[in-house]
Amino acid sequence: MNNRLYGNLIFELSVEGRKGYSLPKNQFGNYQLPEEARRKAELELPQCDELTVVRHYTNLSANNFGVDNGFYPLGSCTMKYNPKINEEMAVMPQFQNIHPEQPESTTVGVRTLVEQLEKALCEITGLAHFTFKPYAGAHGELTGLMTIDNYHRQKGDLKRKKVIVPDSAHGTNPASAAVCGLEVVEVKSLSDGTVDVDDLKRIVEEQGEEIAAMMMTNPNTLGLFEKNIPAIADLIHQAGGLMYYDGANLNPMLGVCRPGDMGFDVMHINLHKTFSTPHGGGGPGAGPVGVREGLQDFFPFVSPYQGNFGVMVKAYAYILSLGKEHIAEVGPLATLNANYIKESLKDVYELPIATNCCHEFVFDGLKDKSTGVTTMDVAKRLLDYGYHAPTIYFPLLFHESLMIEPTENESKQTIDGFIEVMRAIADEARTNPQVLKEAPHNTPVGRVDDVLAATHPVVTYKALVEDKES
Ligand SMILES: *Cc1c(COP(=O)(O)O)cnc(C)c1O
Repeated sequence: MNNRLYGNLIFELSVEGRKGYSLPKNQFGNYQLPEEARRKAELELPQCDELTVVRHYTNLSANNFGVDNGFYPLGSCTMKYNPKINEEMAVMPQFQNIHPEQPESTTVGVRTLVEQLEKALCEITGLAHFTFKPYAGAHGELTGLMTIDNYHRQKGDLKRKKVIVPDSAHGTNPASAAVCGLEVVEVKSLSDGTVDVDDLKRIVEEQGEEIAAMMMTNPNTLGLFEKNIPAIADLIHQAGGLMYYDGANLNPMLGVCRPGDMGFDVMHINLHKTFSTPHGGGGPGAGPVGVREGLQDFFPFVSPYQGNFGVMVKAYAYILSLGKEHIAEVGPLATLNANYIKESLKDVYELPIATNCCHEFVFDGLKDKSTGVTTMDVAKRLLDYGYHAPTIYFPLLFHESLMIEPTENESKQTIDGFIEVMRAIADEARTNPQVLKEAPHNTPVGRVDDVLAATHPVVTYKALVEDKES
């Protein structure tokens, strides 16, 4: 409805000369900006009155789906439970209006918060120091790998340029290693989804003196706990390498076990995943990096300031509001919810790895492959029923991956509702596959052409107009 009245794009509502605000007359005489700072062409902005702008964006926001609208079982991002109190803390003016160049005497409070957060993270992870400069998980990986690279170089160990990464790893792991100038060596997974220790032994025997580090995610990208970490850590340490922990999936471990105790030397935490902060749209994030005692001397320079402070406030509020005793309940509850969904649906969806999972798990599409219905169709149909789709086509180990993560705070009623809908979709796949092929039917926009969007992106209004004309 809003589309007809208010248009799809703010540019289409523009009327020459229309304004939302009028600025007062300049009282300070004419200041001439230096020539090089002056605009050469007119700004191409839409011209709209205030009500049009407000209604346009309010209506757009109502087309969005978020955790505040409904169930959001998106896997691999851990933690979409973002308690509202954290948001309230982060927007307190004392936190929100802080400036990085403020005199130190005025920032005692915020620095104390960062110190306290560091203490809490050290206790949770079993590591000794954290740097808060990285802006997200991938930035944390790069910072951590640079720390490891600096450590080997300082020792004169210049040959160590290889990083072992499991084939199940998140794509950012090999990417960060490459950006850091290191070479990736892939270690295989067993059919149960965990690292193949024999394959690792072979790599260490052949290339031990060149190994800088091994990166591991635990629970791994399939939501499985890596049981052989002590043996793996021994292998790598004996070869002279360091152990890196990708902490993006830390939440089922909270208060239960600690990367530092398992033999990891360096890790990053995605504060925006494990410790709240809405993660949609790609940000904001914070990827603090923790290290074992002594390694803090090798932190690289990655940013002049302390990362995204608001994310730290939310993380600190989250930790404090749970407290030491309740933080250990997060993981078991998330794990219970994930296993409950997995067991309730495994007769109609293909479960490639049937062991107990942690906070998330992966189906490989529908069990009945004869219907021709794909994971994409299931995901699109879920939107019709008012559910956000799970993560699809990731991890890459399976063709029809459907990765489901319910998080710890969802009620049994909500989860049962989701199970019912997933079963209804499996029924439809048999009785009326066409309805799935053409889904979604009830959303403001139907099925979009993903391939066209990727191969022929049109991201400005000007480009859109030119595109239409040509
Ligand atoms: C999300 C994720 C990352 C990358 O983190 P960003 O904050 O998105 O940069 C790395 N590893 C794993 C396992 C992840 O889930």
